[in-house]
Amino acid sequence: MLVENLPVEQLENVIVSQTGQQITVRSFTNPDEVTYNITTTDDGDMQNCTCPDHQNSGTLCKHMFAVNQFLGVPFPPFTPSHSSSSSNLPVTSERSTTTPLQPLFEK
Ligand SMILES: [Zn+2]
Repeated sequence: MLVENLPVEQLENVIVSQTGQQITVRSFTNPDEVTYNITTTDDGDMQNCTCPDHQNSGTLCKHMFAVNQFLGVPFPPFTPSHSSSSSNLPVTSERSTTTPLQPLFEK
């Protein structure tokens, strides 16, 4: 199923709540009875969804697309290997601290 073919109203209704690092979404096929949980990482990226679609394939599911579209939560970085726990390299700041602030307006 392509999420692009779903009406926007349905996508909006999919999202139930967002609490901390857990986002609750409704099932697309059985929204009245089934909900799934999307968890996010410390960085705020989506990490996992409990729906069978994601559990079976490991790919991005339609719930993640809905959450991304309406909550602005980033998709998880694609990790083809089995583990991503060792890929969190420290990010070096490239921001220069010596650049003086430029005035926005000149009178
Ligand atoms: Zn899902």
